[in-house]
Amino acid sequence: MNAASRTVATAVADVVAGALDRAGEWDHHGVLPPEVPAALAASGILRVDVPVRFGGLGLGPATLGELCARIGGACSALRGWVTVQSMVTAAVVRWGTDTQRARWLPGLLDGTRQAGFAATEEGAGTDLAAVRTRIRADGDEVRVTGRKLWVTFGGTAGLLLVLGTAAGRPTAVLVESDRPGIGREPVTGQLGMRAAALAHVEFDDVRVPRENVIAPYGFGLSHVAATALDHGRFTVAWGCVGMARRSLDLATAHVVRRDRGATPLAAHQLVRAGLARMAVRTQAATELCLRAARLRAAKDPEAVAATIMAKYAAAAAASEVGGRAVQLLGAAGCAPGSAAGRMFRDAKVMEIIEGSEHIAELHIAERLLRGQGFRSAPAAPDRPPAAPDGVPTVPDGAPRDPAPRPSRAWEESIR
Ligand SMILES: Cc1cc2nc3c(=O)[nH]c(=O)nc-3n(C[C@H](O)[C@H](O)[C@H](O)COP(=O)(O)OP(=O)(O)OC[C@H]3O[C@@H](n4cnc5c(N)ncnc54)[C@H](O)[C@@H]3O)c2cc1C
Repeated sequence: MNAASRTVATAVADVVAGALDRAGEWDHHGVLPPEVPAALAASGILRVDVPVRFGGLGLGPATLGELCARIGGACSALRGWVTVQSMVTAAVVRWGTDTQRARWLPGLLDGTRQAGFAATEEGAGTDLAAVRTRIRADGDEVRVTGRKLWVTFGGTAGLLLVLGTAAGRPTAVLVESDRPGIGREPVTGQLGMRAAALAHVEFDDVRVPRENVIAPYGFGLSHVAATALDHGRFTVAWGCVGMARRSLDLATAHVVRRDRGATPLAAHQLVRAGLARMAVRTQAATELCLRAARLRAAKDPEAVAATIMAKYAAAAAASEVGGRAVQLLGAAGCAPGSAAGRMFRDAKVMEIIEGSEHIAELHIAERLLRGQGFRSAPAAPDRPPAAPDGVPTVPDGAPRDPAPRPSRAWEESIR
């Protein structure tokens, strides 16, 4: 770690120390006190992997990953805040014009502009190519109409990256949430991520300037949302590593302390076998996350697939290790306010969001089979085959690397 990384890590450690004590209370009340994400933003974490020329610290993916693990081990909702904020940042960094970057990045990077990523709809979760939210050009504006579900921090976000279609072409647009026509319906009592201010968000003919459209019409899913989701998957993967580590720590401490009569739990071989499996799962997930971080830092074309594999393994590890921890804690793991119980609930959510476990398995297997020359039946002409979260794929089975940039003419046209 260099000096800049250490400075951020120290500031993040302070926030994490507070979160370790209070995350249960936040989960119970379904609220993250605003000063907590503000303190996290002040640590500089939102700048960690953003290039210096865009106002970031340029410290790279491995540093960001390890910090997300530390936060995830304390509070998944708080890690989720870093995730959505940096998903939208990544999309603007990669696909925004200079003007758009100058306008949006300062607030995203210092955390004063809280972001949300609004893609899921009633008929479009895994398959985001099916979104029906309409984005209609109207002079210098576009008008957005649709209903988005399950938006993490949708209840408090000031800026939403919305995926819709413009004349049938997937399109992404930034919508400030104080514009007329926006309604938010808080989601409460869900399985996990209870402090993450989830909301369903309605857009009723919401007008935004045309310059809020990120990348040209048609690039919204394969480029803008793909970049955001790829980044989100990486931070979720590391958050899951943190959850698995914490669950293992809680279980280990418990079996040493828990003394039922003459024999402590830790003396039982079955208990030890469980701990060993938990430790191996956690370490294996960490190694896959480190591999993804290395490939991302090297801008290797394998990085997207490595991130999918890392997130798949880490979410499964958090879920299995979390489940075993609750088992070893017994009723203490089921009690209200149990950190192990919260980790277990949150871990299940991680196997559903940012590319579900099924879709990751399909993607990993598809690449293996293609390596052997096997080709799946061609997709229906109007629906490309789906990778995680419906990102259309290229022939090698990886989500399309958003290599081509929108034309200079586009960039000029929206200035
Ligand atoms: C806590 C939480 C936070 C969320 N935050 C956000 C957010 O910030 N922004 C946002 O846009 N969305 C968000 N979501 C929504 C989330 O991204 C979706 O729930 C997820 O993409 C799955 O979509 P779905 O729920 O519609 O399930 P479906 O797409 O109906 O899938 C249900 C099940 O079927 C499986 N399945 C689907 N298709 C296939 C297939 N082809 N082959 C095999 N199995 C398949 C899936 O793996 C899944 O297990 C959030 C959800 C939760 C629970």
